[in-house]
Amino acid sequence: MREVPDRVRRQVIRRAADRCEYCGLSQAGQEATFHIDHIIPIAAGGATVVENLALACVSCSLRKGARRTAPDPQTGAEVALYHPRRENWQVHFRWEGVSLEGQTPTGRATIAALDMNRPIILAIRREEKLLGRHPPPDRLQPGSGRHSEIRHCSGLSSRERLPLHRLRRRLIEPIARCAVVRDERFGFDNRASGPLSAS
Ligand SMILES: [Zn+2]
Repeated sequence: MREVPDRVRRQVIRRAADRCEYCGLSQAGQEATFHIDHIIPIAAGGATVVENLALACVSCSLRKGARRTAPDPQTGAEVALYHPRRENWQVHFRWEGVSLEGQTPTGRATIAALDMNRPIILAIRREEKLLGRHPPPDRLQPGSGRHSEIRHCSGLSSRERLPLHRLRRRLIEPIARCAVVRDERFGFDNRASGPLSAS
């Protein structure tokens, strides 16, 4: 696999709020490092550019591999897999507790192809739920786009307003809160979350 430059990798992780952009799993509690998925595979001409990259947990990444389509289990028709950059996650998927339900042919096909409801992942989601990390808040659902344009946190003083690429992974969750601060203009009342600390 072609190397993804560190700068691009950090950009993809930040944009995804450190969650798998297919199944929503948070990287925070996982031992395995998530993959940078080429949505259109390199073999099919996909470029290593942020518009063609998505953060994917190891399970989703390996199962997707170079696939771009899969059968809709309901009809058998071969349909496009979910495209994290072009499509809205919530159009295709919804949570039923710890299970994912497909709402469209693409949603159903992606869940089946990536085996997104197998027992081990359900067990992981139950643990994540106990830790308050599942389900992802609506504003951080994969593909919601609300956190995708963040450059700086507007809730910080200028001294604290570090370029996000300089923040370490352990700060990703605070960065997610930062995204909420910026989304005030979208109607979120998030003042209670307070400004970020870079310490
Ligand atoms: Zn995943």
